[in-house]
Amino acid sequence: MPDSLFALELHRSKLLQQFPGLGDLRPGSITAVVRRCGKPTCHCAKPDDPGHDPQFRLTRRVAGKTTTETFPTPEAFRKAQQEVSEFHRLQEISQELIAVNEKICALRPAQQTQVGWTPQEKKRLLQSIRRWRGK
Ligand SMILES: [Zn+2]
Repeated sequence: MPDSLFALELHRSKLLQQFPGLGDLRPGSITAVVRRCGKPTCHCAKPDDPGHDPQFRLTRRVAGKTTTETFPTPEAFRKAQQEVSEFHRLQEISQELIAVNEKICALRPAQQTQVGWTPQEKKRLLQSIRRWRGK
């Protein structure tokens, strides 16, 4: 069964209501980099060793260049993680909002958005009728 215009509009207003609930956000992706100190005698030199405490990085592309940010404390990392996850939430809501709007645009009849002819259209219609009469 296709969605009704009413159901889609309801869905859209629910999505719009989620925007005020968004917290601090910023783009980027977080990666964990396994650290190996390089000493041949250290446990991290073994192939199956998980290495030392991983270093977390936030990377993002700015004007075509990848910038990397590292975090001085676990708190700074957790804060950034939260900000990035809010950004992903914004993207999800936006994508859904666009998809719902596309369906609404396809379903909404044209006569609801414009009542009658505009003055320009009337003028053009009259001109074409006169031309058709051969005047
Ligand atoms: Zn090591």
